[in-house]
Amino acid sequence: MEKGENTAAFVSGEWKNRQWQRKAAERYKTYARFLQNPDKKKVLKLLPDLHEEAFSHIDCLHCAACCKNYSPRFKTPDIKRISKHLKVKESVFIDTYLRLDEEGDYVVKQTPCPFLGDDNRCSIYDVRPSDCARFPYTDEDVLVNRARITLKNSGFCPAVFYVMERLLALK
Ligand code: SF4
Ligand code: SF4
Repeated sequence: MEKGENTAAFVSGEWKNRQWQRKAAERYKTYARFLQNPDKKKVLKLLPDLHEEAFSHIDCLHCAACCKNYSPRFKTPDIKRISKHLKVKESVFIDTYLRLDEEGDYVVKQTPCPFLGDDNRCSIYDVRPSDCARFPYTDEDVLVNRARITLKNSGFCPAVFYVMERLLALK
């Protein structure tokens, strides 16, 4: 498949210098237009390969922009699982790490996430919240069904930028 010129730098690892973020900001309106009326069937068929392709170039351990700047939601099953793993009561886990946001979801009290290590590894990786396991939704219908989330994520997650550029190049 023809690679888009905006993703060529990813192959050589240049995505790490974050120059792509300027391009992502310039392309915001183009992504928004595309997400208004995408050919969902076609996009969903392409996503597994594009997701794999994106992460063949991008290493989350060199990024961690999501864990450094945003919080996942900690749903009840997440809280139960992580508290058990940490061998603390759920109430203690909540009091120590979480707060309720404006939408009534538990999120981390502050960013970066307290479970993110200096080496960008997640200390609770095997039991991390479902939101973390699914992020950045580049292999899910969320990418086309939740345009607002995709547009926000395209500004800081190189994988979302990559997949959006590839989808536009293949249009
Ligand atoms: S922002 Fe995207 S590329 Fe960066 S660590 Fe998170 S999921 Fe990986
Ligand atoms: S729980 Fe782990 S994967 Fe999720 S935001 Fe925190 S450090 Fe990142």
